[in-house]
Amino acid sequence: MVKIYADVMLAKLARWLRLAGIRAVNVPYEDDTRILLLVGKEKAVLLTSDEQLFLRARKQKTEVLLVPEAGIEYQLAFVSEVMGVRIRKNPAEVCPVCGSGLVKLGKNMAVKMVPLQARSHYRAFYFCKYCRKAYWHGSHWKEIGKRLAKAGRMRISKRDLTSGSLPRPRLR
Ligand SMILES: [Zn+2]
Repeated sequence: MVKIYADVMLAKLARWLRLAGIRAVNVPYEDDTRILLLVGKEKAVLLTSDEQLFLRARKQKTEVLLVPEAGIEYQLAFVSEVMGVRIRKNPAEVCPVCGSGLVKLGKNMAVKMVPLQARSHYRAFYFCKYCRKAYWHGSHWKEIGKRLAKAGRMRISKRDLTSGSLPRPRLR
């Protein structure tokens, strides 16, 4: 699939996209010129809610989506619809912070890294090597799953689709 970059304002959406199983990367710059250079060079798609940046990207034929300012579920549904990619029902086993794949934590490591209360309720624990953080399928995880399912059921208005996504980016 084509690489997706999200601008700084959409960092939260990028995190949710990763949980939805859609690989999205945070743009490491705030400067529009540098952003467009990077995205253009990598032939990626840029997600932004900044109309100025959107218009500028289009002008120089960079693939870009103008993400409507809306709740996270609607934004997820928008990206999924336009890019033709599915939203997972169960959160992907990726680190919500950096998007790397998680590794399962062995029992001994879990004892060191996971609070006792969580260990008494859950069995499977995961670890992000890059952020050095442990995760588990707690109530938080269920909540994420519910919101992904909601996003999967959402319909996008025609207006948002036509104003925010032309020319339509290549599908995968
Ligand atoms: Zn991480």
